[in-house]
Amino acid sequence: MQESRLTTLTRRGLMFPAEIREQIRKTGIRCRPQVEIVHQDRANQWKLRAEESGGAVALLGHYVGFVAGDGGPLAWLQRVQSLMPNGTHALVIETEMVRVEMFRYEHTYDLLITRHWLEDRKGRRPELRSELLYLGRRGTLATELWGRDAAFRGGARPTFFTRSGETSSPNELWTDAELKVTEGACCVGCKHCHLLEPSVVVVAPQEEVMEVPA
Ligand SMILES: [Zn+2]
Repeated sequence: MQESRLTTLTRRGLMFPAEIREQIRKTGIRCRPQVEIVHQDRANQWKLRAEESGGAVALLGHYVGFVAGDGGPLAWLQRVQSLMPNGTHALVIETEMVRVEMFRYEHTYDLLITRHWLEDRKGRRPELRSELLYLGRRGTLATELWGRDAAFRGGARPTFFTRSGETSSPNELWTDAELKVTEGACCVGCKHCHLLEPSVVVVAPQEEVMEVPA
């Protein structure tokens, strides 16, 4: 793959030929891998904004989610619920994020993992920097996570091979994110948020199980 194509892909996300884009459009799946720079006027600071989005139909799936630089979960700013499935699920605003994008056509998967951050330019609008962490093409997973094998969702991910036929997989840091994005790309009529999490985790006290005397 040419250097410039890889650079574009790292910045913008997976790219598809026109016929595939048209097929995705017809399914109603709206996956937005864009990472944008936004300015918070009140705090006077620059941030990155992205949307966790996408989902699946039986034939294909396209999902993008976001995690922290160490592979751990990021909190959403806002959960978005819509009548239409397979669209935007949550918004995230951060100074750095790792984007995890997956496209599935039947049993064949593409996976793109990229890091995005802001490079300070002394008071001026910062530069959006992007780094390619992993690109897996035409990985396969025999399990039908969108149908009869749905019970395996969250525990299965495709196998990728290098051009020379060796197995390839992203760094272990991204394993959890990969499992979740695989789940998203197989989630028919998705209305969940598979990677971003609520900002405040309220841990309910353990209820004691007591025998109620009769
Ligand atoms: Zn889902």
